[in-house]
Amino acid sequence: MIKQLDHLPQGLLDLPANKLYTKIDNHTLVHLKGKIKRPVFISVLQHGDEYTGWDALKDYLNNHQHVLPRSISILFGNVDAARHNVRHLENQPDFNRIWPCHLTFDSPYAKTMQEITDIMEKREPFASVDIHNNSGRNPHYSGINSLNAEFINLASLFSDTMIYFTSPAGIQSTAFSKFCPSVTIECGLSGASDGTEQTHTFLELLHSQSNLLHVPGILEHQKVYKIFASVKVKEEIDISFEQHHHGFMLVKDLDVLNFQQIPSGEQFGRLSKQLADLNTMPFVVLDENNQPIDTDYFKLDGDKIICNKSFVPSMITQSIKAIRDDCLCYIMQPI
Ligand SMILES: [Zn+2]
Repeated sequence: MIKQLDHLPQGLLDLPANKLYTKIDNHTLVHLKGKIKRPVFISVLQHGDEYTGWDALKDYLNNHQHVLPRSISILFGNVDAARHNVRHLENQPDFNRIWPCHLTFDSPYAKTMQEITDIMEKREPFASVDIHNNSGRNPHYSGINSLNAEFINLASLFSDTMIYFTSPAGIQSTAFSKFCPSVTIECGLSGASDGTEQTHTFLELLHSQSNLLHVPGILEHQKVYKIFASVKVKEEIDISFEQHHHGFMLVKDLDVLNFQQIPSGEQFGRLSKQLADLNTMPFVVLDENNQPIDTDYFKLDGDKIICNKSFVPSMITQSIKAIRDDCLCYIMQPI
């Protein structure tokens, strides 16, 4: 059973993310009463090193100490990982890949996610917001898995740039999308002040809405992209940003391409002579059904990896660890 509270532990709003563990456990749900009863669900720190959500939520709660405009249910994700400023601990799964979905997960963690989903479904949330950061240069954007007006409007309260995605499986916002408008927001680098401010503004805006079907003043500059595939580097391949290395050498500053339409012919990286001689693609490109579609998007030209088709990448990162943990990038097209 997860822990549920109807108040924040004393002094919690003074703590940075890496000290939360002193007062709260992983997967604690805190239900705070506001003037309007239907709550907004807010999830922070599913990934322990992504703390903009907590910083912004603290600012929001400090601004509304006396009365909240609307009830909030706060989910504290991985405060143990936050203590060490890592995505998750060695013995833990990625918390945002095991929420209820079409796959069956059989672990105590997955049961916890099911329990939280069941509790929140009964509370009929007005909206669900899961707050993340990423490690490369990306604009701040929101992710949705439905193109219904309520989802688009919710996402637009945060950013004009949004991504429509249906995989990977086991994502929190997908699980909650069955019963309320849900969004994942990506606020740039952890702790960067522009991301914290934008998220705080978003929380203020969201809590002042009475209806997400009609949100005035948006829908004009929106850009919606759909994720078609993800690029995963093969486990046995070495990755590097250095140019005289072995294995797969990525182009320096590749992350400036995030959210840019890159033309066919653009170089993505280079292979060591050994890999080039073997004609080895260093990664697989997987579509939404996990089917490989490498050759649709990339080809080898000697030791160069060249884009075969124009597309918009996102989530390209300079962190080798993030590339290993998640993926090199997502392949998108505007819709
Ligand atoms: Zn994350």
